Amino acid sequence: MQLYNKLSAQERAQLLDEAGEDRLTLSFYQYAKIGNPELFRNHLFVAWDQLEVLGRIYVANEGINAQLSVPAKRFNEFKAHLDEIYFLEGVRLNIAIEHDVKSFLKLKVKVRDKIVADGLNDETFDVTQKGIHVNAQKFNELINDPNTVLVDMRNHYESEIGHFQGAVTPDVDTFRDSLDLIEEDLKEYKEDKNLVMYCTGGIRCEKASAYYKHKGFKNVFQLEGGIIEYARQVDNLELENKFIGKNFVFDHRRAEKISEDVIAKCHQCGEACDTHINCANEACHLLFIQCKACAEKMDKCCSDACKEVHALPYEEQKALRKGKHNSNKIFKKGRSEVLKFKA
Ligand SMILES: [Zn+2]
Ligand SMILES: [Zn+2]
Repeated sequence: MQLYNKLSAQERAQLLDEAGEDRLTLSFYQYAKIGNPELFRNHLFVAWDQLEVLGRIYVANEGINAQLSVPAKRFNEFKAHLDEIYFLEGVRLNIAIEHDVKSFLKLKVKVRDKIVADGLNDETFDVTQKGIHVNAQKFNELINDPNTVLVDMRNHYESEIGHFQGAVTPDVDTFRDSLDLIEEDLKEYKEDKNLVMYCTGGIRCEKASAYYKHKGFKNVFQLEGGIIEYARQVDNLELENKFIGKNFVFDHRRAEKISEDVIAKCHQCGEACDTHINCANEACHLLFIQCKACAEKMDKCCSDACKEVHALPYEEQKALRKGKHNSNKIFKKGRSEVLKFKA
């Protein structure tokens, strides 16, 4: 079960009840100015270690990004501690019950330069001056407004399988690239249009919205909690769903279905398909969209060349891979020349 929200006291009680002796897995982030991240890090470590918190937490001058687990019976103490920190009071917690408690084995709190590797090295703007957060209902109203420009802040391979109706989906491989592209496109409208943005869980918009305000955009809005929270609110409150297709997520599920539409194509044959796969040739690992028929025909590979390598005995494949890196290519899905139906 997953709950993504600012939990009410009642919801929290129910969640703790269900968890029993188990642990709650949760994540949260907040951009805030932290003058001495080292000191803050030590403070968190001491307090959370006592509460048996486990997890991976990044602290930087620009804020905190945390993934952790807490024993259910100590959750209220943990929450009380968060609320004592002024910029974390009432922070949105994404919570799940983890019955198989192996999500984290240690408590690691690390000081980093940034809480998200976003390639945004502009020190001149204030990341806490973010856009106006809107819930699903307000978001629907805004995107119905003809004076609104709706922008998808995610990468090409994410928006390809699902996005909001009418959204601008920049053809970029990284978050950093989209910022300039969007600014250039919208420079005439900085004062009079609504710039409304969204991403998967909200974190990318936190910074992007501050960036655009810094660049002179006057009416900047962001979808609070991202597509994940939007889908939850649409369900709970029976709102109109304006998201078509799948939401790409960064865990083993790859994507969650939000509407029944399939808006992407198999990159090999062009059939309607929105299932991402990594090329089975480990030396390639290209992320692309492949239908079942092509998966069978191509042995889950992106090309004939990869299929040949993949068919070799493992030791031979390893010998071929020696000294080569594939990391840059992995997320260039649909960019590969071998794929005929790239979007
Ligand atoms: Zn196909
Ligand atoms: Zn391949």
